[in-house]
Amino acid sequence: MNTYWNKPAETMEREEMSSLQAGRLKEIVTRLYRQQPFYRSKMQEQGLLPEDIVTLEDIKKLPFITKQDMRDNYPYGLFAAPMSEIVRVHASSGTTGRPTVVGYTKRDIGIWSEVAARSLVAAGLSKQSCIQIAYGYGLFTGGLGIHYGAELLGASVIPISSGKTSRQIMLMRDFGTTALACTPSYALYIAETMREMGIDPRETKLRTGIFGAEPWTERMRQAIETQLGIKAMDIYGLSEIMGPGVAIECSVQSGLHISEDHFYPEIINPVTGEVLPDGEKGELVLTTLTKEGMPMIRYRTRDLSVLHHEKCACGRTLVRMSKVLGRSDDMLIIRGVNVFPSQVENVLLGIGNTSPHYQLIVERKGNLDQLTVLVEMTEEMFTDEVRGLEELETKIKGELSSVLSVSATVRLVGPKTIERSEGKAQRVIDKREL
Ligand SMILES: [Zn+2]
Repeated sequence: MNTYWNKPAETMEREEMSSLQAGRLKEIVTRLYRQQPFYRSKMQEQGLLPEDIVTLEDIKKLPFITKQDMRDNYPYGLFAAPMSEIVRVHASSGTTGRPTVVGYTKRDIGIWSEVAARSLVAAGLSKQSCIQIAYGYGLFTGGLGIHYGAELLGASVIPISSGKTSRQIMLMRDFGTTALACTPSYALYIAETMREMGIDPRETKLRTGIFGAEPWTERMRQAIETQLGIKAMDIYGLSEIMGPGVAIECSVQSGLHISEDHFYPEIINPVTGEVLPDGEKGELVLTTLTKEGMPMIRYRTRDLSVLHHEKCACGRTLVRMSKVLGRSDDMLIIRGVNVFPSQVENVLLGIGNTSPHYQLIVERKGNLDQLTVLVEMTEEMFTDEVRGLEELETKIKGELSSVLSVSATVRLVGPKTIERSEGKAQRVIDKREL
C-alpha cells in the first residue's frame, strides 16, 4: 500500500526537484548574504557573491559550517530572522562547553510539522494511531518535533516524555498505545523492564516503533523487533538542521527518504571535503533550503552515510540515505586503528541475540592505549558450547579482536551494572582526554 502525506513532494520527478532545489538555494544564499553577517563574511572570505550560485553544482563553492561555528556564535549569532519573528528556541546539551542553539520562525515550525507528519505516514502511521512520545520534551528537539508532526497527522498523542519507565509501560497498556517514539536504547530498556514486570509486549496494542537520535545497527533493530514484537522504523534528524523528520524509513526499509525539497544532502570525504558520488560512504552534509530562523548552508553532520537517488519501490522519488553507519567524531582511534562502538554492538548481538549493554573504556597506560569492553552478561550468551564465564570471555574477546583488528580486554559484569539511559546511551568513556 502506497500512502503519502504529501504525494506531489514525495514523488516529484528528479528534474523538477533539482530545479526547485536550485531556485531555493539561490534564494537563501542571496538572503543570507544580504542580511546575515556571519554568512556574508564567510562568503567574502571565499570571494563569492550570491550571483555565483546558479546551479546545484555551485553549492560546492560554498564553505562548510561546523558545530564549532555554532559555538563561536553562541547564542544567536547564526539566526537570520529578528527575535520578534522567532517563536521557538531549542538547544543541544553538548558534552563539552556551550550548548548549540537553534531558532525557528512560525513558518519553520509549520515545515517541521509537515516533514514530521510525512515521516510518520511513511513509517506506516495514520490518524488512527496512538503515539506515545517517550523522547525528552524540552530544549531537545525529539519530543516536540514528533509531537507537532503527530498532531498535524491527526493521530492521538501521548506526550509522556522520557523516563519513569514502569509508568510508561502501565500507560502503554491502559491507553492502547500503537506506536512508541524514543531512542533505540530506551526501547530496549523498556523491553527489559516489561520482562521484569512480567508483561508480554505482544499482548499490548504496540505495533510500531519510531526510533532515532542515536546511531543503531541492523542487529539492534532485530533485537528490538524480537523483544517488543513490533516493526522498528528509523527516523533521522538533528536540531542544527530541524529536528526529527529530516529523513525516515518507508515500508521497504531500504534507506531513509530525505525530505529533500527542504533539506539538500551531500556526502563528502570527511578528511578532504571532496563531494562523493552515490553509493560511496562518507559524511552527510545538509543544507536547509527553506528555513528562516536559522538556515544552515553545508552543515557537517558528522554522521556517516551513503546516498542513493534511484526511485524506491514504495513510489517515493526522494533520495535515500543509508542508516547512519557511525559518527565521524564517535570514531575512536586506538593504536592507529579506527574503532566504532557499532562494531562492538554487532559482535555482542551476534553472541547473545539480546539487549546489548556495553561500554568501551579507553585508557592510556604509558604510551599505549588500552581498550576495555565492559559487557553485561545475559542468560542468552551461555549455550551448550559456552558454559562458564571464562569461556564466554574468551569467545567475546576472540570475536572482538577479529572484527576490530585491535586487542581488547573483555570484562563481564553482572546484569544491570551498566547504567541505563533514558535518552542517548553513553557507549564510550575515553579517559585519554581527561
Ligand atoms: Zn521508499
